[in-house]
Amino acid sequence: VPLITLQAESVGILNICRSTGAQGYDENDLEGAEAIARHLALAVDNASLVARHKADADRYAALAEQNRRVLDSLPSGVIALDRARRVVQANASALRLLQQPLNHPATDWETLARNLSPEGKAAIDRCLAAAASGNELRVTIEEPDSRHLQVRASQGAAFGITLIIDDITHDVEIERELQRTRTLAEVGQMTSAIAHEIRNPLTSISGAAQMALDEQTLDGAKGWAKVVQQEALHLNDLCDEFLDFAKGVALNPGETSIDAVVSELLMQMDSQLIESGTRVSFEPGDQVPIILADKAKLSQAIRNLILNGAEAMVGGGELRISTEAQQNCVLIRVEDHGIGIPEENLARLFTPFFTTKSRGTGLGLCNVRRVIEAHGGSVEVTSRVGVGTEFTLCLPLRTRP
Ligand code: ADP
Ligand code: MG
Repeated sequence: VPLITLQAESVGILNICRSTGAQGYDENDLEGAEAIARHLALAVDNASLVARHKADADRYAALAEQNRRVLDSLPSGVIALDRARRVVQANASALRLLQQPLNHPATDWETLARNLSPEGKAAIDRCLAAAASGNELRVTIEEPDSRHLQVRASQGAAFGITLIIDDITHDVEIERELQRTRTLAEVGQMTSAIAHEIRNPLTSISGAAQMALDEQTLDGAKGWAKVVQQEALHLNDLCDEFLDFAKGVALNPGETSIDAVVSELLMQMDSQLIESGTRVSFEPGDQVPIILADKAKLSQAIRNLILNGAEAMVGGGELRISTEAQQNCVLIRVEDHGIGIPEENLARLFTPFFTTKSRGTGLGLCNVRRVIEAHGGSVEVTSRVGVGTEFTLCLPLRTRP
């Protein structure tokens, strides 16, 4: 008799035998046999179901164990909380970071977090609240034992919230150390730049003074006094540049015509430019509007660009300055046909004290950028070695305050 399950699946055969000589099977016998076969089919079906379940349960347990091991091997603390903030899972790192015993893990968040500082716990609670409403928040807390923990909470699909905790103490320390080193290096660089800059004119001054002392005639002495005066002026300019750098930019804005600023500046620099063999052409743009700007600072910035351009053209050359009104800004271009800037220097151009000149301070462009950015503008540079360099200042249009 076939063993047929309720799902009409054949799962076996029931063999019934009688000893020889006995009578054959009548209808009743066959019905009885079929009834038994149905029961047997059910039993076989149940047995295989149980076996399948057990295999599934074993596989599930193995997966869960594997999952736990993977989680435990992570350096990050991972905690899964349900909506009632009960602990669904907390890996070994989480317990370690929260200074909890490994063998009796807490079953709710409050207990799990009890060794945190009140401020730290409050910060993480804010993360949890944010995550519960669907926002992922990240906080860094500093515990009284100087540990820095970075905590992220996000909404988990099945169980309320997943918390990830990382100990970033080492990173924070390295970053601080780096910052200190950077500051020290900058101070060192600045000190030596200043000392270097001051020594050159000082040497000239003491030399000229000695020569003046040795002079027999008044006119001769006056000649040397002139040198002393020039070098003193140079020192004064240097001090201005260093002070500009140290002070930061406080703007004193007023209605400013860029074209007037450039024209005035070129007049002031005239003799200096002629002396260096620089021929300047200025092409004011059409209808360049009056903008709100700090005239003196702007003039200083453009002056730095002109000086750099002149210095880049050894033995003199053509320097082109132009302005242009655009929809949202005024452009000021300073273009030279000088030595150009190698690719690898472009990124460092605006860094304080970056200079390739023996008498450079490396503060000019740094100050240019600070002034222009204080106006809400930007500085761009394009350059080709051996061909020339173009600096473009972009100043936003601003009507009256
Ligand atoms: P400094 O002029 O004192 O060196 P800057 O900040 O003005 O300092 O300029 C930094 C460096 O950028 C210069 O030393 C030079 O190498 C490079 N540089 C700036 N402007 C130009 C230019 N127009 N052409 C070529 N190089 C330039
Ligand atoms: Mg310069």
